[in-house]
Amino acid sequence: MTDSAGALVLFSAGQDSATCLAWALERFTRVETIGFDYGQRHRVELLQRPIVLGRMAALTPRWAARLGPDKVVDLTGFGAISPSALTRSVAIQSPVAGPPNTFVPGRNLVFLSVAAAHAHARGLNVLVGGMCETDASGYADCRRATIEAMEAALRLGMDSDVRIETPLMQLTKAQTWSLAQVCGGLALVELIRTETHTCYEGDRSGPHPWGYGCGKCPSCQLRAAGWQAFMA
Ligand code: ZN
Repeated sequence: MTDSAGALVLFSAGQDSATCLAWALERFTRVETIGFDYGQRHRVELLQRPIVLGRMAALTPRWAARLGPDKVVDLTGFGAISPSALTRSVAIQSPVAGPPNTFVPGRNLVFLSVAAAHAHARGLNVLVGGMCETDASGYADCRRATIEAMEAALRLGMDSDVRIETPLMQLTKAQTWSLAQVCGGLALVELIRTETHTCYEGDRSGPHPWGYGCGKCPSCQLRAAGWQAFMA
């Protein structure tokens, strides 16, 4: 299936957004990417993005022909507002109730607004994001209801027919690996395993079976558990 509309993928160089990018490259003839520098402690992801993009384009000539420019937007002013452990040097903690202290309030709402403005400027009418409500992080701005409300607000506020696609919304981490395999085969799975960055600590030590990272932060633990389930 292909769609004549163009898509803008919110791409962080992590496992989820790389899988979303592959999903979009299978469906849209024109695909561009956007990322955000919000002062994240795992800034290493900004260094991985050209590597992941280059290697994904090299996987198939079809994807290379479809993949357009990448844009990184400076949102460090937004990041500076947040007391989150993702933008400050404090220990990452996961309380029993409520989201971990890596939650950056409003992050996806800001990202989607900026992405919609860029998509409008580029003539792209589909936004693709890796938000997922099944991965247990409990981030309120990853829920489908939030995304649907945001889509309605953007359509009204920008007087456009923008659409937000979230292909991972109902998937487990193991199913996200399976989706990568469906879109790009084992070559894409291997590329995502070795080149994408998920660790909140910005650590690229390893290799571990599931890729690189500290292995201890909530993000690494999710990724490791998902890989194990995928391989089982
Ligand atoms: Zn980690």
